[in-house]
Amino acid sequence: MLLIARAGFARNIPARVDSVPVVTIAALIELGVDPRTFSDLRVHDSRLVSWSGGAPATIASPGTVHVERGALEAALFARVLRHPRLTLAPAPRSRAVLRSMVDPHVRRGGVVLDATGRASVLAAQRVTAPSPWYARTSLWRAQQSHSFEPGFRIATLADGYCYRLGTRDCLTLGIVTSERGQHSRHADRSDACRVALPWLYDGVPPWEAPSTDRAHVASVQWATHAGAIAVGDAGLARDALSSQGLACTISEARYAVAVESRGDAALYEARAQEQRGSHLRSLHSMLSESHHVTETRWQSYRTFIARAIEAPPGNGEPVVALRGRRLVTVADAMPLGHQ
Ligand SMILES: Cc1cc2nc3c(=O)[nH]c(=O)nc-3n(C[C@H](O)[C@H](O)[C@H](O)COP(=O)(O)OP(=O)(O)OC[C@H]3O[C@@H](n4cnc5c(N)ncnc54)[C@H](O)[C@@H]3O)c2cc1C
Repeated sequence: MLLIARAGFARNIPARVDSVPVVTIAALIELGVDPRTFSDLRVHDSRLVSWSGGAPATIASPGTVHVERGALEAALFARVLRHPRLTLAPAPRSRAVLRSMVDPHVRRGGVVLDATGRASVLAAQRVTAPSPWYARTSLWRAQQSHSFEPGFRIATLADGYCYRLGTRDCLTLGIVTSERGQHSRHADRSDACRVALPWLYDGVPPWEAPSTDRAHVASVQWATHAGAIAVGDAGLARDALSSQGLACTISEARYAVAVESRGDAALYEARAQEQRGSHLRSLHSMLSESHHVTETRWQSYRTFIARAIEAPPGNGEPVVALRGRRLVTVADAMPLGHQ
């Protein structure tokens, strides 16, 4: 097994706290990764939300755990490197050179996975929103005996949204808008949000302290591939609003490694289409519920999503499942009597 990875991959890891469903922690433990290295493992089952207008309200949510991205990725990568049959090769800078490295594997019938995130380097075509939304996130680390209030809070803005979440030791604040923005403008923006949303900034340290990330695209994008199987954001980068990217990528990786034939690849592609339709539909309803949905930037993004929503295969229910380590249609996976 050949892994083509960037040397010093850790330099590109986003400095922030993310939220994952509790089951993702179980999946990581199953993969042999110790979650205590990147999480306080506290389960959050509610969030403070101001989305459809009015005062912030506490809303019940499915259980999630907050994880520190840098430490999570370091733990996962260390686990990958322990694989006994792994050969590691440095990723070339040029796409053409990368192609020349993978093409011989494709010709020999090997399976090539593209897991390069939004770069989606082996994609034949990529679709992005006409005015993508960018997230600027800040990360604070608690000093000595101080600890943060780690709960998830989110509010819509006229041109995007603002959120925070943390662990006992770190706190992330994110502002997502269609402005890529310079660092100094972001500081002004954050100060303005602090005044407008005191409940969201409660306990957030002053601006000078955090390590600020660069701007990351946070709106949905997808890609089509020929000669490679796309895993995670390389195939469908979900809108960050869904907080589903990590869980879906990890689950998708299990499906991808089960692909051994053209038939499997077709089933994998059918599942990818079903996932895309399902994400776009739930994103469309989330955007529609925003108090600011009539504002220009919300309208433009919502219209892009509405146009992209395709008739899902079947009735929108899952079409492909894993049986052991094999890809099968859901109909084949059902016990007789349930079909
Ligand atoms: C602001 C923000 C907040 C988010 N919050 C959450 C959250 O709370 N919960 C959640 O589940 N998800 C969240 N997400 C989404 C989540 O980050 C992604 O879905 C997830 O990282 C996808 O994993 P991936 O492995 O597919 O891609 P990535 O994590 O992007 O990894 C891609 C890898 O490919 C490497 N690479 C790129 N180009 C090349 C190349 N040419 N050669 C070799 N290697 C290359 C990169 O260096 C990187 O290591 C958020 C996203 C954003 C932007």
